[in-house]
Amino acid sequence: MHQEYQEDSEYPKLMDNNDPLGRFRQRFYLKKGNIYMCGNSLGLASKDAEDCILQAIEKWKDEAIKIWNVDDHKYYLYSNYLANLMAPLVGADPEEIAITGGTTINIHQAISTFYKPTEDRYKILVDDINFPTDRYAVDSQVRLHGYTPEEAVKVVKSHNLLMNEDDIINAMTDDVAIVLLPTVYYRSAQVLDMVKISKAAKEKGIIIGWDLCHAAGSIEVNLKEVDADFAMWCTYKYLNGGPGSAAALYINRKHFTKLPGLAGWFGNKHNTQFLLKQEFDHQQNASGWQTGTPSVFSMATLEGSLKIMNEAGITNIRRKSLHITGYLMFLIESKLKEYGFAIGNLKEDEKRGGHVCLEHDEGYRISMALKAKGVVPDFRDPNVIRLTPAALYTSYEEVYKMVDILLDIAKTESYKSFNKNRNFVV
Ligand SMILES: *Cc1c(COP(=O)(O)O)cnc(C)c1O
Repeated sequence: MHQEYQEDSEYPKLMDNNDPLGRFRQRFYLKKGNIYMCGNSLGLASKDAEDCILQAIEKWKDEAIKIWNVDDHKYYLYSNYLANLMAPLVGADPEEIAITGGTTINIHQAISTFYKPTEDRYKILVDDINFPTDRYAVDSQVRLHGYTPEEAVKVVKSHNLLMNEDDIINAMTDDVAIVLLPTVYYRSAQVLDMVKISKAAKEKGIIIGWDLCHAAGSIEVNLKEVDADFAMWCTYKYLNGGPGSAAALYINRKHFTKLPGLAGWFGNKHNTQFLLKQEFDHQQNASGWQTGTPSVFSMATLEGSLKIMNEAGITNIRRKSLHITGYLMFLIESKLKEYGFAIGNLKEDEKRGGHVCLEHDEGYRISMALKAKGVVPDFRDPNVIRLTPAALYTSYEEVYKMVDILLDIAKTESYKSFNKNRNFVV
């Protein structure tokens, strides 16, 4: 953690006035009276995202079917267009990225492409604290090959919601065909060493894939250096693409000649696609892993938000994120510790992602009390309040104010007036 943080109310003002990313805040739709701390779940709408989706609607209105042809086939080739904007954020070549589908379906796409079980090598290695959809996808993939998850899914166990990298590497036995892991854990914000783990997998002849959902747009990722086989990520968390915006799929260029597990006509070579032949003529780059017609209205918002990300630069975004989350941790330790609060994430910069895990036995009701005071956090069982000061739109002053609100909730025990029963989406 940084040493220079100060507790007083002048410090956040000073930081905001000297924030090189401060000018981006005005491009987002922030709600007056709210302190938004939920960018790890759903990033905020930006004017840029809005402009791009309105442009797409205008094109549809004006051009109808010609929308696929105008502007150099921008919308027909929209995956490629957006891959160009996405590539610098994850350190890959644009040809290695498709913008398509959703995270879960892209896991299915990748596993069905790479999972070729043999009698000796048929297991998929996962962990027990990843976001569960990844596990549901893996379980159903082994079932499609006639295995039960008990037989073919090997699970590395966590300790106190943290994962030991050596446990993962030691579990890479000769019967493992594929490893699927998250780069940043959704609950604990722990960052895994992708380079080290991917290298170990490669040495053992194991295919490795990474889920970057909580990493993309939040931490610096260099897929070239990692040299994993595949990766996928959503675009509505730190990338601010909007609810259910199209996801990304990375296919390492050394696999371009492989056939997609789930093929469709938008994975056909573009120059022969409209010959509408019965034989699939695979486009040999990541865009060949697209299936059907691009979901233009789920992609246009992403165009705007990726432009902002590139303008700001991922290095600057990560630098501010580390500093402002460090400030939040500093305030928690100096002001909230005596009220039963603890920090659940690892504290070293290189081991933590974009959110802070505030733990309290009464976490759920405290999160409800925060909402009543205009703070938008989210809560993950059993006791974690996830707080994300987002580099592009959260101010230091908001962090300061939120900690004051938490202090008031703790001192007055106002959370006790809230019901313990849970909502569907918390
Ligand atoms: C957010 C998240 C998902 C979301 O999957 P969708 O298909 O986009 O709903 C999947 N995996 C991880 C690790 C996530 O953090």
